[in-house]
Amino acid sequence: MAYKGRKAVDPHVVLAEVVNAKRITPNMVRVTLGGEEFARFTPTGYDQWFRLFLPRAGQDMLRLPTRASGLWYAEYLATPKPRRPWVRNYTVRSARPDLNEIDVDFVLHASPADPAADDAHGSGPGAGFAEAADRGMRVGVLDQGVTYNPRHAHDWTLLVADESGLPAVAGICESLPKDARGVAVVEVPTAGDRQEFRTPSGVELRWVVRSDADPHAVPGQAALTALRGLDLAGYGPEVYAFAIGESALATGARRHLVGERGVPKTHVDFVGYWRHGRSSPG
Ligand SMILES: Cc1cc2nc3c(=O)[nH]c(=O)nc-3n(C[C@H](O)[C@H](O)[C@H](O)COP(=O)(O)OP(=O)(O)OC[C@H]3O[C@@H](n4cnc5c(N)ncnc54)[C@H](O)[C@@H]3O)c2cc1C
Repeated sequence: MAYKGRKAVDPHVVLAEVVNAKRITPNMVRVTLGGEEFARFTPTGYDQWFRLFLPRAGQDMLRLPTRASGLWYAEYLATPKPRRPWVRNYTVRSARPDLNEIDVDFVLHASPADPAADDAHGSGPGAGFAEAADRGMRVGVLDQGVTYNPRHAHDWTLLVADESGLPAVAGICESLPKDARGVAVVEVPTAGDRQEFRTPSGVELRWVVRSDADPHAVPGQAALTALRGLDLAGYGPEVYAFAIGESALATGARRHLVGERGVPKTHVDFVGYWRHGRSSPG
């Protein structure tokens, strides 16, 4: 499928350092990345995402791909596995370009590692990194652009996400024009995981707290149920919908909107951020 997002401004891997790390809610750690070299990173707002390169246990140095754009992956695959860094996908939650800093919010998930993976990593290298993140730790960041990208005139915006998509929803809400209208449905594990962020006054934020129904349910299913029960009338005829998070949420939201609500396929973008029971490749 052709990429429908907006491409990265400068798709080169840049070196970043951990400047700060703090637990902001029960299941989320905010890591601030910065450093001198990070001045080359250009924040663009919305749900800008990036590849995060992390050292594997026992690696004394971080070997980062040097090639731009899509070519980095061939270079990565050509590197013998023990020398490759881990690669995971994350979102720029907020940026302070004057300080060359970005904040990245990591979900601390306790899912068992994929039994097929070659490394036992408990909650996964991404979440594990956030849990242990400390000042001065070095990582690589490769800008991948923005996925939220309406390509038609629309009256309102519909956002649907689990907690992995919360940073993207917050970034989008903080980037939308002040007169934007719509609704954002965001599932979080507990009531304490709700966050405050700037939202246009016409955009309603609806939190779905998983622990209220079934704390052990697969993330995203409660958001999908909430979407099915949502009254979409009254917002306007043309919607741009954006669904992100666990794969079944992203595909289920799109199927529901297109199949049962009659939303044109072209008006729905969806991205499976992760898959229940499977590690990210890389
Ligand atoms: C464009 C994009 C942007 C993203 N932005 C963010 C972001 O800003 N913050 C963020 O936290 N995530 C974000 N994600 C999701 C993140 O990349 C995945 O959750 C990733 O799998 C985390 O890597 P890991 O090493 O922690 O776990 P992995 O090694 O990939 O997986 C280990 C195990 O944990 C499970 N797992 C993975 N993620 C979760 C989760 N969130 N909840 C419960 N179980 C999980 C897997 O199914 C597997 O069983 C984004 C993904 C994409 C594609």
